[in-house]
Amino acid sequence: MLAAMPDARWFAIRRAQNLKPATYRCPFCGRRLPALSEHMLIVPEGDSGRRRHAHSDCVLAARRAGKLPTRAEWLQTQPRPPSLWRRVTARLKSPSG
Ligand SMILES: [Zn+2]
Repeated sequence: MLAAMPDARWFAIRRAQNLKPATYRCPFCGRRLPALSEHMLIVPEGDSGRRRHAHSDCVLAARRAGKLPTRAEWLQTQPRPPSLWRRVTARLKSPSG
């Protein structure tokens, strides 16, 4: 049930530590998830207000399928401006400089 997944460019993933006797619904498989069972939290772009509880197996399967990029993985796909160091050294090396 990917329709229930929050829309985000990357996700923080962490082990859930929940002592509330609540039941959640896993956004991947749509099945029930007792809060007291071992599971994981996925946090879209670090926004804890939109976090979802999910089965550990479902999270791992989504990771394997490339559907749940971490922030570091997302950053690697982004074009980066040259670093300050690169700009400074490029200026120093230029003949007109
Ligand atoms: Zn699940």
